[in-house]
Amino acid sequence: MKVKTNYANAPVWREINVKSRIPESLKMLEEMARNIWWAWNDEATEMFKELDPELWQIVAQNPVALLERLSYEKLEALSENKGVLKKIDDIYAKFKAYINEKPDSKRPSVAYFCMEYGLTHVLKIYSGGLGVLAGDYLKEASDSNVDMCAVGFLYRYGYFSQSLSMDGQQIANYEAQNFGSLPLERVNDENGKPLVLDVPYLNYYVHAYVWRVNVGRVPLYLLDTDNEMNSEFDRPITHQLYGGDWENRLKQEILLGIGGVLLLKRLGIKKDIYHCNEGHAALCNVQRLCDYVEGGMSFDEALEVVRASSLYTVHTPVPAGHDYFDEGLFGKYMGGYPQRMGISWEDLMNLGRINPGDPNERFCMSTFACNTCQEVNGVSWLHGKVSQEMFAGIWKGYFPEENHVGYVTNGVHFPTWCASEWKKLYNKYFDKNFLKDQSNPKIWEAIYNVPDEEIWNTRVALKNKLIDYIRNQFRDTWLKNQGDPSRVVSLMDKINPNALLIGFARRFATYKRAHLLFTDLDRLSKIVNNPDYPVQFLFAGKAHPHDGAGQGLIKKIVEISKRPEFLGKIIFLENYDMKLARRLVSGVDIWMNTPTRPLEASGTSGEKALMNGVVNFSVLDGWWLEGYREGAGWALTEKRTYQNQEHQDQLDAATIYSILETEILPLYYARNKKGYSEGWIKTIKNSIAQVAPHYTMKRQLDDYYAKFYEKEASHFHSLAANDFTKVKELAKWKEEVAEKWDSIEIVSVDKCEELRQGNVESGKDYTITCVIDEKGLDDVVSVEMVVTYTNVEGKEHIYSVTPMDLIKREGNLYTFQMVHSLSNAGSFKVAYRMFPKHADLPHRQDFCYVRWFNA
Ligand SMILES: *Cc1c(COP(=O)(O)O)cnc(C)c1O
Repeated sequence: MKVKTNYANAPVWREINVKSRIPESLKMLEEMARNIWWAWNDEATEMFKELDPELWQIVAQNPVALLERLSYEKLEALSENKGVLKKIDDIYAKFKAYINEKPDSKRPSVAYFCMEYGLTHVLKIYSGGLGVLAGDYLKEASDSNVDMCAVGFLYRYGYFSQSLSMDGQQIANYEAQNFGSLPLERVNDENGKPLVLDVPYLNYYVHAYVWRVNVGRVPLYLLDTDNEMNSEFDRPITHQLYGGDWENRLKQEILLGIGGVLLLKRLGIKKDIYHCNEGHAALCNVQRLCDYVEGGMSFDEALEVVRASSLYTVHTPVPAGHDYFDEGLFGKYMGGYPQRMGISWEDLMNLGRINPGDPNERFCMSTFACNTCQEVNGVSWLHGKVSQEMFAGIWKGYFPEENHVGYVTNGVHFPTWCASEWKKLYNKYFDKNFLKDQSNPKIWEAIYNVPDEEIWNTRVALKNKLIDYIRNQFRDTWLKNQGDPSRVVSLMDKINPNALLIGFARRFATYKRAHLLFTDLDRLSKIVNNPDYPVQFLFAGKAHPHDGAGQGLIKKIVEISKRPEFLGKIIFLENYDMKLARRLVSGVDIWMNTPTRPLEASGTSGEKALMNGVVNFSVLDGWWLEGYREGAGWALTEKRTYQNQEHQDQLDAATIYSILETEILPLYYARNKKGYSEGWIKTIKNSIAQVAPHYTMKRQLDDYYAKFYEKEASHFHSLAANDFTKVKELAKWKEEVAEKWDSIEIVSVDKCEELRQGNVESGKDYTITCVIDEKGLDDVVSVEMVVTYTNVEGKEHIYSVTPMDLIKREGNLYTFQMVHSLSNAGSFKVAYRMFPKHADLPHRQDFCYVRWFNA
């Protein structure tokens, strides 16, 4: 045989990257695509879409991918279309005018750290509320033109996308993202090569690439370890958001905190304030401490500087939600740091413990954050209170209600979440300066001047848009997971744009109680099948892949939705993300939220609903406790009737049914001749006028400045002036007081006999005198009388705190005195408290030495 059956060598492939060649006249599109300013400028998004509406859907509304995939012929045709060019020019001019404005140098500058950012559905680096909040915050920082930058991760797989099996089981799909097609840019070094950030781990380095998302004027830097410089153990550090084991989580938090600070140093960025959004980023303070110590400060001095310039925002209302690391694991990675900071291993561990010295206590990121950040805040008024309690153990000597934990109630970024139909309406009726002054309630009052019909028509248009969207987007998935094509047809038929639409979409964590509505299925069936008052429920949300109970809830709802009496009345929509969220919060009539109180730290989706004329029906928890006004939505009371959660759930469910039956449905269907309910429109107007202005992201940003950043920055600058003179003084003073604290002697406490015996009369003056020997310290203590009472739940609370006056000083002896009367009769407890005083302490917990005494 001279001819072989087969004869070929293997091909030698060479990879080529075909970059789309963009005609000169369309170059600005490239620039605009790589700044996600388009994500909150409807005109810009519209402009990209119009380049090729079909391709726009194929690339999932990603402008970078769109430009990549537009053929050269198509691009050339566009570049000859005068109308298109004019539009692009106009929008580019607006873009440039916006981008070129210099940040306001009068407000403190901020570096913001967070594990996730929800900026657009295109960038899958968020999972839920925390991320969307952070994303909205950066957008508002850009709009408000403050000097801010942010640090996070570019996840290879991001958070999962959700699909459902036929029996309602959640399937988590992780798709690798191609970074080149995303709206971001690689950060290069001085030589134009990709910048590589080396972050120390154990005895080697992890190498991270750095990407930048241009959020309008604000840069967001994203670290990415998925590259061939790293071992197979370290590449996955940035693979998944909230994935992997505890070791990977610690490696992530080291990268975010320590790597984040190293990155800013590498880029030459210095800010006034370092803001840890959630405890994940708290290790940034370890690196900052190292930097100051290695620059020549003592640890105590460095801690003063770091504390004064950092803020920790907590988002979790239960201790179990915080990150804890075993000493062994923590030591494996962090063992080298104490030496660099000039402290012992025990010292570092203790900074993360509520009870320093307890060897069984793990290192808690939140406790560490509380101990190294001057200010701490929760994300709503109620959550602030809950956080005061949750962290009270860190500041022993004070009652929870006395500690400095504050709050800023979350808001939402108006241009992102308000549908363009509503923006047009607001533009027509509201003050010209509306956007710049959007948290001013006066401006929103103009909603009362809008004709009812216009409001109703806007609502109907958005409802129809949502229903079209559902019909188009979900047909294919339903054909796959409904099992029966005829059921899909009947489902589609049953979706009724005239029915009252109620939306419930959020993470499926059990405390959010998605199941509450299904407590009494007979009653629910009567409600949804009442021919006079048609009503439909839309559910959506992902459960964390490790949260079996959350996944169980999804399954249960899917099962119920398939029953004949609920088909088309209860609908579960897969893969809740920002895109679906935008549709839902503008398309339904009612936004419902039924968390277990007080576990909803804030919640924000209901705030998105507000500005779209969607009315809230929620538990008085989180933001709604503050936001609810009578006649502007519906509320389930915050009072807890039963200790037993199951009973409470039943009661809450019954209340929901009853409010629906007797209030919401009758009002919605009280249609006038023109086909709408005047009472309903009034409710919408009240909700927009009285509630919406208080929940914009602008209000939130301004609150952070007014309550925290400005106060901290001025304190920090006064400490840092003249080569940190005051820092050195303050650290030295604290060291001295700490050293001698236990030797301070309470020489005498003279109380009148009645007080000593516990028999006092209200309204009568009593004189109390005490003498303290400071043992060589120079006027460092204050003394006060603390009176407490026990409330109905058996909890002890502060009744009054009264300072005693320093009336005499003789050598080391300080005499304090007060004249006091109790104005109410009742049962109280009295004790005295001594604490250190200094003009440069921002608050008492900053130097938490307390000695209680009594006579
Ligand atoms: C706004 C938003 C959230 C947060 O909503 P909550 O009301 O706080 O639960 C979660 N996921 C997505 C996609 C969102 O847009």
